[in-house]
Amino acid sequence: MTPKATEARKVIPIAVAQGEGPAAPPPGADAEMISLYEAHKKIYPRSVSGLFSRWRWAMVFLTQLVFYGMPWLEWGQRQAVLFDLTARRFYIFNLVLYPQDFIYLTGILVISAFSLFLFTAVAGRLWCGYACPQTVYTEIFLWLEKLTEGDRAARLRRDSGPWNPDKLWRKAAKHFLWLAVALWTGFTFVGYFTPIHDLGREFVQMRLSSWENFWVFFYGFATYGNAGFMREQVCKHMCPYARFQSAMFDKDTLIVTYDKERGEPRGARSKKASASALNLGACVDCNLCVQVCPTGIDIRKGLQYECIGCGACADVCDTIMDKMGYAPGLVKYSTENAVNQHWTKAQTLRHVLRPRVLIYIAILGTVVTAMAVSLATRLPFKVDVVRDRGALARIVEGGRIENVYRLQLMNASESQQNFHISVEGLPGLAVASEQDVAIESTQARWVAVRVQAPFEAAPAGSHTIHFEITSKDTAGKLLEKSVFIVPR
Ligand code: SF4
Ligand code: SF4
Repeated sequence: MTPKATEARKVIPIAVAQGEGPAAPPPGADAEMISLYEAHKKIYPRSVSGLFSRWRWAMVFLTQLVFYGMPWLEWGQRQAVLFDLTARRFYIFNLVLYPQDFIYLTGILVISAFSLFLFTAVAGRLWCGYACPQTVYTEIFLWLEKLTEGDRAARLRRDSGPWNPDKLWRKAAKHFLWLAVALWTGFTFVGYFTPIHDLGREFVQMRLSSWENFWVFFYGFATYGNAGFMREQVCKHMCPYARFQSAMFDKDTLIVTYDKERGEPRGARSKKASASALNLGACVDCNLCVQVCPTGIDIRKGLQYECIGCGACADVCDTIMDKMGYAPGLVKYSTENAVNQHWTKAQTLRHVLRPRVLIYIAILGTVVTAMAVSLATRLPFKVDVVRDRGALARIVEGGRIENVYRLQLMNASESQQNFHISVEGLPGLAVASEQDVAIESTQARWVAVRVQAPFEAAPAGSHTIHFEITSKDTAGKLLEKSVFIVPR
């Protein structure tokens, strides 16, 4: 089938007689073209102010203060947060993590997942509406768009009009600002992996490595494209979260809802007119809730998967209710049960703490506590023991049996550590090579360790032994299991 044929085809009324198959369309019948794909309509969200808008901007400031500011924060002689992939060290304030600390990443992912489940069960798409990078950067880009091109009405008028110098310079200014923010975002992102001061110097001197160049521009253009052009399409078509959110909702989840009972029948009226005399509900059908919606939906049609729960429609509707002298909350955060059963705010909030939410809180609390305890009691060094496969068990001078091991000592602190290596597990077992090793701050080193035992210490075969590595500086002690081979 040609692409043209898949996009549109003729729909012609036909009669199907039993056993005769489809009849041919009558001559001169009307043919209607139906496109299988709806053409994308650009959305021009109107700016809005109100309680939820203020919360969203507070989250924009908070998240971006952390994102843009963190790489510039110094901690002692280094960057406070740095993921040094080349050296395979991850610095997070006073923590120095090695790839062997992968368990903490797992812990962070589990905490993030259960936080998401908890917030979604309590208040729907709170993450999407207030803290998701797509929402945050779209908000910033929309603000820059309003700064250069004006609000919705001016943008609509200008976009439908011809090109002129005014339109040209405004569009150019907008794209210049968008690109500046996007590239700064890409630069900041790479600054988490390369010390940002060095990165800045290299950037000015145009000496960035090819990988740094790639990631600065890739991340920058992803921000430019997603926040400037794709916008709601990312939420509607690319983000998987929108698809499975409904599995986490129940009838006691707080969502943005339109109070149909109070709002309908909708209709325009003057401020002085009595709604009851006109047999109208509270909705004045101003359509502003649709105009402010970043995904372009009408909340009055009920909960839709496109709704990111931003509350913009609730904000604008409250201003209309206020102008009309009606009570606020025609569009509000509420639950399906609360709307159907006319619960008060207190009743609604009481139902938030339901078994499902309590289970999420319990799991989350357990994982957070376990991770905090593990981090607080973590030793500032690590050891890996590997039997040296190149040197087999052998009998050495004095008739003793010798096995050779390779120990990787990892110093996870920011000062030199002095280690003492000993071994136990068989009578007379001892380390025959250097037992005291110094490792520089944040460095790791492989050390060859020879272990010897008297010939009569054990019968031929494999015997479990333990290496004991003690840090003389922190008094921390680690036991690592290995095997000692006695040859036949
Ligand atoms: S903003 Fe409120 S009053 Fe206006 S159309 Fe939407 S629901 Fe009705
Ligand atoms: S319907 Fe309302 S809450 Fe949902 S995305 Fe649109 S403006 Fe935001």
